[in-house]
Amino acid sequence: MPIDSAGPTGNLLLDALSDLDRALIASHLEAVTYARGQTVFEAGEQVAHVTFPCHNAVLALVVTTRDGRIAETATIGHDGVAGGIVAQGRVPAFVKGMVQIGGPMLRLEAERLEEAASQSASLRDLLTRYTDCFVAQLLQTAACNALHPIEQRCLRWFLTLQDRIGGDTLPITHELLAAMLGVQRTYLTRILRLLQDQGLIRVARGRITILDRPAVSAAACECHARVRLHCEAVLEPVYAPERRDREPVSRTRAG
Ligand SMILES: [Zn+2]
Repeated sequence: MPIDSAGPTGNLLLDALSDLDRALIASHLEAVTYARGQTVFEAGEQVAHVTFPCHNAVLALVVTTRDGRIAETATIGHDGVAGGIVAQGRVPAFVKGMVQIGGPMLRLEAERLEEAASQSASLRDLLTRYTDCFVAQLLQTAACNALHPIEQRCLRWFLTLQDRIGGDTLPITHELLAAMLGVQRTYLTRILRLLQDQGLIRVARGRITILDRPAVSAAACECHARVRLHCEAVLEPVYAPERRDREPVSRTRAG
């Protein structure tokens, strides 16, 4: 189903496109709805489509080990896109794309995106900048996993997810969170209780509520803030649109 080429899509990356760039792909975007736990692409599969999560939908990129365990390597929400973004031609997916929070997404044939990018320097620039932000997330996560304690990793994860879905309530089960952080469920439950005792979160069945975002930010490691700042600098229309909206005011002031 083609989307309205003028209206907002609920994906910040698509909504940051210029009218010309949007016109190149709008008629090829296909609306799909995914449920939690669904697989969008398997590791090793040829990536035929790129997928843009919209509104609150979130995709997790997970690595499955030989003994069947999974660990999250990155999450992609309404600020991004999954699937061979920088690749030319079809390539196998390195990780599995799994729906973490179900909802609407837009799909586009990877070849259509390549074709559009070959016609537009500004579209190429946007995709390259997004890739830089995505790689920053991966690099910081690697450092975080190696250096920071589980409590802080957990809080980083909550902040990242809250950025993607808005609101204070994160619809996430203990099983999934444990799998995403690569720890045993019973161990995770102890950690969550500790964070709850500190007044940072409230834990309920199937959801975790962030009670005090500034306190959670202060208690978390620097990883979330570091990635956020980098992304705001590299891709302002997506990560700091309010700054762009304010710009004409300061320009007027400057004369
Ligand atoms: Zn960290």
